[in-house]
Amino acid sequence: MVALTNPKVKPEHLKRNAYLYIRQSTARQVLEHQESTKRQYALESRARELGWSPDRIVVIDSDLGQSGVSAVDRKGFQRLITEVTMDNAGIVLGLEVSRLARNNYDWHRLLEICGLTNTLILDEDGLYDPCDFNDRLLLGLKGTMSEAELHIITSRLRGGRINKAKRGELKMCQPTGFVFDNNNNIVLDPDKQVQEAIHLFFETFHRTGSSMAVLKHFRKEGILFPRKLRAKARKGEIVWEPLHHTRALNILHNPHYAGAYAYGKSRYRKCADGHMSCKRRDKSEWTVLLKDFHEGYISWEQYEANERQLNTWYLARTGGCKQKTPPREGPALLQGLAICGICGNRMAVEYRNSYGRQNVPTYTCRYAHLSYGFKLCQSFVGYGVDKAITELIKDAVTPMALKVTLKVYDELQQRFEETDKIRHLQVERTKYEADLAQRRYMQVDPDNRLVAENLEDDWNSKLVALNKAKQNYEKLRQADQLIISKQKRDEILALAKDFPKLWQNPNISNRDRKQMIRLIIEDVTLIKGDKDIAMHVRFKGGATKTLSTPKPLRYCDKIRTDPELIRQIDQLLDHHVTHEIADILNRKGFKSGTGKVLTGALIFDMQRNNRIKSRFRRLKEKGFLVQKEVAKILGTCEHNVWYWRERGWLTGHVYNDKNQYLFEPIGKNHPIWERVQKLNKK
Ligand SMILES: [Zn+2]
Repeated sequence: MVALTNPKVKPEHLKRNAYLYIRQSTARQVLEHQESTKRQYALESRARELGWSPDRIVVIDSDLGQSGVSAVDRKGFQRLITEVTMDNAGIVLGLEVSRLARNNYDWHRLLEICGLTNTLILDEDGLYDPCDFNDRLLLGLKGTMSEAELHIITSRLRGGRINKAKRGELKMCQPTGFVFDNNNNIVLDPDKQVQEAIHLFFETFHRTGSSMAVLKHFRKEGILFPRKLRAKARKGEIVWEPLHHTRALNILHNPHYAGAYAYGKSRYRKCADGHMSCKRRDKSEWTVLLKDFHEGYISWEQYEANERQLNTWYLARTGGCKQKTPPREGPALLQGLAICGICGNRMAVEYRNSYGRQNVPTYTCRYAHLSYGFKLCQSFVGYGVDKAITELIKDAVTPMALKVTLKVYDELQQRFEETDKIRHLQVERTKYEADLAQRRYMQVDPDNRLVAENLEDDWNSKLVALNKAKQNYEKLRQADQLIISKQKRDEILALAKDFPKLWQNPNISNRDRKQMIRLIIEDVTLIKGDKDIAMHVRFKGGATKTLSTPKPLRYCDKIRTDPELIRQIDQLLDHHVTHEIADILNRKGFKSGTGKVLTGALIFDMQRNNRIKSRFRRLKEKGFLVQKEVAKILGTCEHNVWYWRERGWLTGHVYNDKNQYLFEPIGKNHPIWERVQKLNKK
């Protein structure tokens, strides 16, 4: 039996394992603070002195290089907890045990479990029994102090950073388009191509007002966008790639491009699973914001205007619905401009396929429905409204026509020049690379054949790339020039004199048409009434005008039979059977609801569907008799009745298209009685 060297160590402790937990927060500490690691391993001998045999001592060092701030990512600490919980541990050893966990929650959990499983704790200062109140109190205090220490260190570091940032001296990673010069000042990237691309980016956003439109413009024109690499090996290198929407938004939101120095733009928070989440803070909450700190691509005012613009689209997209949306490709002219006259929110545009027609524009107010689950405010087909707006624009625009067209033309011209410049820069860059490859090849020692061959290959591939870039440039340039040649310009100018022609020109896209409307109209409030749709138009500058257009008919209303036709059928049934009525009404030019020529069967259907009294009922009500009744009264067979009507001895009226008859009532003095008596005598 081993002699017990410490009264706190009992035989039941020695029956279980001793766990030595070793940790250094960062990989750097692991390398630089080897002394500390050595001291941690030295604890192993303490365990042996206390009576644990070497095979019962387990070293857990899988957390080397892991921070103690949270237990989530530390597999070794998790394992330690598990072993203690499973009652496998007699003692836990650590250099400063409170540093086992730099977070009170983890620390107290460990203490609690050690108390429950009667596990001892040992550090350089001494041996503790968590079941003993005084020891537990001391351990608890140590844990609290340790956490406080960590807190103080972090806040000192953070305070230092913030102070440095407040003076603008904290060096931060520079976004694409910026570099540090030799004096550590932030300057624009000297690479002209990078600068041009970023300038074009902001100009395009300024013109179109939409990040998506910028993206589409870059894609359509085949322009690549620069990105600075952040990864260590190629840090700072610029790569050219297609512009991505997230990237476009990041650049627009980044105050750096407006020459501002900002720190603390995001808030980092720990999630329930231990991982960090990052959220963009509102501008008013930024820790540091120094405007006009360095050269930028846009002004601060421009940056704020861009933010407002982005926010507008954001609200509109996410159902705030109080703002305009940018013009899109669909044909509905009032997209983004229509306001619901019932609830005051923006109306959405939908395109439906109905009864053989495709892309029927429909204006719908879904706000109340989507937000609160109410019924749709209103919804109607937009043809009538669009037509009325077109007429209005044509009337309103004549004196302004020249101005509008010139603006369109100027924009095309400007766009072409910007794009051409940037495409040319792309060619220049490939040319520079080819020249560089050539120089490298020329300078190499011809005896060094392997290197020379490699350099020659490189030169060749650069030349191929240059050729391709040149061809591409010429192709795109010619394609664009077609749009705004002299002839085209004259055409546009000629069109300007005649706005309606410009409006209907098939070369003008729906989007451009809508852009034109936006030059003139601020918004249109629509209210669907019983018979028509009221349109309150608000022009730019505040003038207003109210128009109305007939309410579009529903399909069932459209194919409904003309009420006049029904009235005529009702009248004619007094004297005519259905096929005669059809003839009469066809001569008068009536058609069925679906536009068909009238027939006896159709008239019969209309009579029945509209619950008009049939000719049979009308005659019956006048006391007319069917053939069978007449035969009964006269005491003869139906054949005779038919025969006598043919001979004109009885008066019958045809009541349907099957040539069936109703007979006038037979009084006592009716001449037919004589015939009947004669017949009976025979
Ligand atoms: Zn509404």
